[in-house]
Amino acid sequence: MSEPLIFEISSPGRCGASLPACDVPPTPLPAGMVRADLPLPEVSEVDIVRHYVRLSQLNYGVDKGFYPLGSCTMKYNPKVNEVAARLPGFVRTHPYQDPDSVQGNLALMFELQEYLKELSGFAAVSLQPAAGAHGELTGVLIIRAYHQSQGDGKRTKMLIPDSAHGTNPASTTMCGYTTVEIKSDGRGNVDLDDLRAHCDDTVAGLMLTNPNTLGLFDEHVLEIAELVHNCGGLLYGDGANFNALMGIVKPAHLGFDVMHFNLHKTFSTPHGGGGPGSGPVGVSQRLAQFLPGPIVVLEVTEDSCVCDAEEGEEHAQECYVLRLARPEHSIGRMKSFYGNFGVLIKAYTYIRMLGAAGLRQASEDAVLNANYLMHRLKKVYPLPYDRTCMHEFVLGGPPPQAKDIHTMDVAKRLMDYGFHPPTVYFPLIVHEAIMIEPTETESKATLDAFAEAMITIAEEAVADPDLLHSAPHVTPVTRLDEVKAAREPRLRWTPPQ
Ligand SMILES: *Cc1c(COP(=O)(O)O)cnc(C)c1O
Repeated sequence: MSEPLIFEISSPGRCGASLPACDVPPTPLPAGMVRADLPLPEVSEVDIVRHYVRLSQLNYGVDKGFYPLGSCTMKYNPKVNEVAARLPGFVRTHPYQDPDSVQGNLALMFELQEYLKELSGFAAVSLQPAAGAHGELTGVLIIRAYHQSQGDGKRTKMLIPDSAHGTNPASTTMCGYTTVEIKSDGRGNVDLDDLRAHCDDTVAGLMLTNPNTLGLFDEHVLEIAELVHNCGGLLYGDGANFNALMGIVKPAHLGFDVMHFNLHKTFSTPHGGGGPGSGPVGVSQRLAQFLPGPIVVLEVTEDSCVCDAEEGEEHAQECYVLRLARPEHSIGRMKSFYGNFGVLIKAYTYIRMLGAAGLRQASEDAVLNANYLMHRLKKVYPLPYDRTCMHEFVLGGPPPQAKDIHTMDVAKRLMDYGFHPPTVYFPLIVHEAIMIEPTETESKATLDAFAEAMITIAEEAVADPDLLHSAPHVTPVTRLDEVKAAREPRLRWTPPQ
């Protein structure tokens, strides 16, 4: 960074604030409350504005450029979502308010539950979990509660394909189950023989991501569901890749018993850097009684209905009230209050803005964009599973003719071209993986610019490998020692000695 930092341009007596004259008697602060050694910078208003704007521009976000981070669905987040989330009626409510006084908030939650049910085919949805991984924990606890309710204590294992996201085995372990890894076959599907060999009466269930983290729709999903159900297990769906399916396939119809949604991915709320997120869970009828509460239910009441007396009409008008309910054998609360309500508003707004046809088109365009990029890039980069992808695809690292060049070098060099790098070294089953998810919100021009950068980098990798080894060159900080950066982060300004 060449610009001076705020502490360096500080000048005694300079001030960026203008306050009106004090109209109350000044009172000294109690002794000991003010630190004498607090060297705050003294700067003008324009200095402080430039300081913060400059800092904000060092950040890379989806509002600044293409962000093809595989598995994360970094689609553009429409600004109307933010407008809706800031409406005073939503912002100025408190979670302790009487439900009768927040019927509008509850109506939004109820309708969102209904939309998610409609999109997924499930019988019931709880909006409580705060993220995808939290939804997994919720879903696996529901599976455990189900087996316990059946008096079935033998089931100690959860089957998880080797392509799965790391949160799957983590959630399973937190619920007290043992994780058993299932191999993938040569086309990137679950290996049916390996699955068959592991299906017995000690299996609590299988956690399946479909499309999986290779971006491939499992060609045997119906058979997988049957194998798991036949041995008494339940099928968990990791819904992080729902952006490929909206309005096209309902997971419940594929045999899934429970699935989480990642509202912050599929339904466009800003995420990354730790949140906030939302991971509602949908379940089939036999699991509905175990969902975490509260769930919003609609109760039809004629009593509380105020009918228009002047019109003199006698006909019963259907009135309803929204209430909070706890399912009969609920696993309990998963989150304080009502979940991450702000995220629910944004997801609801997104669904209402797009409508049924728009949601389907979003998924179709996400799949189209991924296939377009895959076809352009597979001419230059290895593609281990060469078949139609869904909303993302995984390359097998740099071109083989580039010696001593790794995926990390390609990723770092992409920053010099102004792109956020894709996900790298995941999924683990692809050596040197480069996982690209363009999303539906990018234009063909952006996809082409990215493809051309990737193709140029492939050429550079052969002609001038050191250019890649030392990349990035144009970012505020260049190539970091990643381990050191994580263990000894320098997060604040320190005066020169
Ligand atoms: C993102 C993701 C998760 C975890 O979701 P979070 O909302 O980040 O907790 C789980 N599985 C897959 C495949 C994912 O991409």
